[in-house]
Amino acid sequence: MTTHASIRAARSRRRRMASAIALLTMIATQSAIAQKTKAPAKPPAAAAANMPSPAQIQAAVDAAYNKYKNLDSGKVADYIPILGKADPKLFGIAVVTADGKVYTAGDVTKEVSIQSISKVFTMARVIQDSGEMAIENNIGVDATGMKFNSIIAVEVEKGAEINPMVNPGAITTTSMVGGANADAIWQKIIGTYNDFAGRNLSVLDEVYQSEAATNQRNQAIGSLMYAYGHIHDNPAQATDIYTKQCAVGVNAKDLGMMAATLAFGGRNPVTGKQAIDAVHVPSVLAVMATAGLYDDSGKWLYHTGLPAKSGVGGGIIAVSPGKFGIGVVSPPLDAAGNSVRAQRAIADISAALGGNPYQVAKR
Ligand code: GLN
Repeated sequence: MTTHASIRAARSRRRRMASAIALLTMIATQSAIAQKTKAPAKPPAAAAANMPSPAQIQAAVDAAYNKYKNLDSGKVADYIPILGKADPKLFGIAVVTADGKVYTAGDVTKEVSIQSISKVFTMARVIQDSGEMAIENNIGVDATGMKFNSIIAVEVEKGAEINPMVNPGAITTTSMVGGANADAIWQKIIGTYNDFAGRNLSVLDEVYQSEAATNQRNQAIGSLMYAYGHIHDNPAQATDIYTKQCAVGVNAKDLGMMAATLAFGGRNPVTGKQAIDAVHVPSVLAVMATAGLYDDSGKWLYHTGLPAKSGVGGGIIAVSPGKFGIGVVSPPLDAAGNSVRAQRAIADISAALGGNPYQVAKR
């Protein structure tokens, strides 16, 4: 090769190199721009992309309804006299997805009292107003392994190391809602429930009266939590407001919507209202997972992976974070106090929709 030829070859190599570098730089810059312009957080609608189609969701809801509507086991609660009159045939299912679509089967308009499911939303209120540590320090976030109205559970640690899903923890949680008087406290509580449900709920007066006349055990529990210093003032008022919150009327659709608000970062997927800040939702779900189905919470989580909460009125809510909320109403309860049909229906529907948060989606 002549000197000139080798200089030319070197030049052309440099040019090729330079243009290759220019190309790489351009690609890198473009992808950096693309990264910057990409939405910072996945909105719920995108998270729902790995959900089955609307037809598949409706089919799963219908299948569960048909499979369990004639299942005849369990007994309606009667330790609160009026609950003994509940219709054992009532059965309604509502699944709510990120786009606010509601998939239903059965009777989703008939109301039952929310009962213990209310504990979730009063807890959410207190965490929103006073922070996570207020609940952890004053009540605890561990399962008791005992019945929801156990007094022995209070005695073990002088009212500490329990949780807001059992009566002593729940009455204490209600006592932590701020307000100048009983009415102001109540407005805060019902206002929170309304935001979760996306409509104005009201107290079923007959249920409230029936329980208020027979809740001496809860009054004793309230007094005990006062004696141990967890309730700071007026345990009778806290117990009364707790009794009222348990008597709020809800149907399966309300429960599905309340669950969905938890599933989508504390924001009601229909009204768009932020009921509590997204940052607090995981703590609420954690306590539901730990203690939402009484003594059967471990078994429930083992089979479904879903944070859930039941009530003796026959309702259950369950949450598949980022995917769906589900509410089911069916009054007959099993020995642990959980609705028989609701547990079965939720487990089936969630399995069909890939709802278990511990299950990694197939790629
Ligand atoms: N109001 C009921 C009670 O305090 C709530 C119990 C429940 O639903 N587990 O006994």
